[in-house]
Amino acid sequence: MTQSPQSILKSVFGFPEFRPGQLPIVERLLAGTHTLCVMPTGAGKSLCYQVPALMLERPSIIVSPLVALMDDQIAGLAANGVTAAAIHSGRDREQNVAAWRAFQSGEAKLLYLSPERLMTGRMLDALKPVNPGLFVVDEAHCISKWGASFRPEYEQLSQLKHHFPNATLAAFTATADSATRTDIAEKLFGGEGDTVVRGFDRPNLNLAVLPKAQWKPQLLGFLAERREQSGIVYCLSRKLTEEVAAMLKAEGYRALSYHAGMSPEMRRENQEIFMAEAAVIMVATIAFGMGIDKPDIRYVFHLNMPGSMEAYYQEIGRAGRDGAPADAMMLYGLGDASLRRRFIDDDGEDDAHKRREHQRLDALLSYCEATQCRRITLLSYFGEPGSKACGNCDICLDPPVLLDGTREAQMLFSAILRTGQVFGAGHVIDVLRGGDTDKIRARGHDALPTWGVGKDRPKPFWQGLIRQAVAGGYLVVDIDQYGGLKLTPRGEAVLKGRETFQLREIVPAKGEKKPRRSA
Ligand code: ADP
Ligand code: ZN
Repeated sequence: MTQSPQSILKSVFGFPEFRPGQLPIVERLLAGTHTLCVMPTGAGKSLCYQVPALMLERPSIIVSPLVALMDDQIAGLAANGVTAAAIHSGRDREQNVAAWRAFQSGEAKLLYLSPERLMTGRMLDALKPVNPGLFVVDEAHCISKWGASFRPEYEQLSQLKHHFPNATLAAFTATADSATRTDIAEKLFGGEGDTVVRGFDRPNLNLAVLPKAQWKPQLLGFLAERREQSGIVYCLSRKLTEEVAAMLKAEGYRALSYHAGMSPEMRRENQEIFMAEAAVIMVATIAFGMGIDKPDIRYVFHLNMPGSMEAYYQEIGRAGRDGAPADAMMLYGLGDASLRRRFIDDDGEDDAHKRREHQRLDALLSYCEATQCRRITLLSYFGEPGSKACGNCDICLDPPVLLDGTREAQMLFSAILRTGQVFGAGHVIDVLRGGDTDKIRARGHDALPTWGVGKDRPKPFWQGLIRQAVAGGYLVVDIDQYGGLKLTPRGEAVLKGRETFQLREIVPAKGEKKPRRSA
């Protein structure tokens, strides 16, 4: 090899240096190591295989699921003077024959194929004498039933390693879920090979989570310091987006709404205004965001908690594309968490799927209740290790005070146990605080020894404690029991005094509490 990866990067693609994470992948592929590369969208995956493909002596095959993606790539390479070929259903027979000739003759060193075309007996037989040195599987999560976008035609790709035992296999995905990753590596490489996860850190995003109190003053307080900026406010329901947009308009903001129930014209119009004008707030459901590439979105405010860490990461990732500081603020309350649980249970999928979705949600809950740097929590969820405390998340800026909450947790857990583990937070707190409600009297809960033991603590304290206990895996919210709280073995261990309970100091949330930092 006469040229270095850096010199190819410069001479062919015109970039001065690799982005973090690219070179380790290039080097692995050049060394012949099967590699699974997990990088978020836009991080620069293509170069990770295009550079080695140009350097390796033997030709490379790139498997891609979408015709449009292949054509984009080929046009991009052509613009840099690189000839690549593609065979796919969007081209006529003659074009496909010409592409094959170009590849077979060595004029094109890269051939793009769909998985179903590659895995035909004819194609496999034709490829063997050409002796490809590298197979690249793009959108590799499609091979896994664990992911959300399984494609049956990808399943065949697990045979590649048997057909081409001397080739290096590379898999690329932006889906970082660890079960999916293990599955991809297992199917494509038989579990051999390296996994490289990089590029998930977005240092210019200031991460923050606030317990939800009164969302209107919380939102208005946040926006008051950002009147000149554009941002997105994410809501769970269509109705709420319209309500919030109307409320913000009444407060003098330029606010638009966006959800799947609006007409396509209306949605397009609002999107265009948001893209073109300054200081516009888009109040939207998750229907808004795909393909939005406005560089100067200065904040993403979650009025409701997303359904998973992945969703959260995607949604906040729309802010600060220009690299300047941007805020990711989430309001988080137990009501939203329970609602998310119910969605998962009602989604009609099988039990294994539900279990995974609950785990994803749990990860987000523990992120919300994190006691260390949120960025570390986030990146370690995505498997990107080794980051230091960031210094610009809410926890780094204002570390929570940790107290021994074992006694209070025992009171709470005991009240839950004694009332039969079927009641939600509201009733349990009433019992703890010695309430005199119809429900308490009807059930005789005022005769319990735990009735009133938590009188000297205000309601928000107990709400916060319940949130922390759920996030920490001491309690679960039982959806089949209308949101009833139940102890887990970990919760029982605290109740029995076998484990202590570390409590994040619960500061009463003031509606008008201002976020500490503005961009
Ligand atoms: P992904 O496939 O990960 O979504 P792409 O491969 O499409 O991302 O790359 C996203 C953008 O980043 C492209 O415009 C690409 O040219 C650019 N890019 C990739 N690597 C570099 C680099 N080392 N320096 C500058 N720009 C880069
Ligand atoms: Zn931090």
